[in-house]
Amino acid sequence: MFDLTDNIAMVTGGANGIGKGIAETLTKAGAKVMICDIDEEAGEKTAEVIDGEFFRLDVTDPGNAERVVEEILEKYDKIDILAANTGIYPEVMIEDMTEEDWDKIQNINLKGLFFTAKPVLKAMKEQNYGRLILTSSITGDITGYPGGSIYGATKAGILGYMRNAAMEYAKYGVTVNAVQPGMVGTETLKKELGVLYDKGAESVPLKRLGKPEDIGAAVAFFASKEAGYITAQSLVVDGGQIVPETPDV
Ligand code: NAD
Repeated sequence: MFDLTDNIAMVTGGANGIGKGIAETLTKAGAKVMICDIDEEAGEKTAEVIDGEFFRLDVTDPGNAERVVEEILEKYDKIDILAANTGIYPEVMIEDMTEEDWDKIQNINLKGLFFTAKPVLKAMKEQNYGRLILTSSITGDITGYPGGSIYGATKAGILGYMRNAAMEYAKYGVTVNAVQPGMVGTETLKKELGVLYDKGAESVPLKRLGKPEDIGAAVAFFASKEAGYITAQSLVVDGGQIVPETPDV
């Protein structure tokens, strides 16, 4: 396991699912983790389990991240790691799509990243150290599904943000990378896929859905000292799902 002792980490969307897995993995590696989420009940519970702290953060609220970052800095004096993981993925077919659908998904997945990362990057620049790790998806640039166009656009946008932010902050000792999960067996994915959920694993060469801690391991790697020379990169964590298998001949 990578050693993240004394690291202060923020995980957005950290109350449930993948974010919870990221928080648990970073904690195991020695980091003190701030769970940042709108789900207060689950957030408090997760924070208690990992001996971290919970901050109510709505990533769509322009001033909220600034206030949370201020509070964390007051208490801990630094933020080493931000895992910006918040995201929603409701299925919306193009001909049924409304402007509200578009705005809602864009606001949480992409604009929320802008609001959250801005004050954290400012702090990382001042401390001349930081690790920003974004949760994109294989739907951002490799694959897709019917009903995923708004979502895919946000996840591609996250990759674009990642590469450009990496260039802007490299001279301040800050690396910016992304993880691209395939299908990860969270409660939300189960709800979205319905009957297809159980079939999901069959389409994965490693014959199982991803676990939140599989994504946590990739985030811990990017957060580690060992990954200090890696920036502007994305790591696919999907059990081999995106590689077409050679047909039986
Ligand atoms: P999830 O629903 O389990 O977790 C998302 C978390 O974000 C929840 O705790 C929720 O309360 C929080 N959240 C929602 N809106 C928020 C807001 N406005 N402000 C702050 N927090 C908010 O989802 P998940 O399956 O764990 O997905 C997490 C991330 O991983 C998302 O970005 C998703 O796009 C991405 N992802 C998931 C999968 C998958 O198969 N599960 C695959 C690829 C990428």
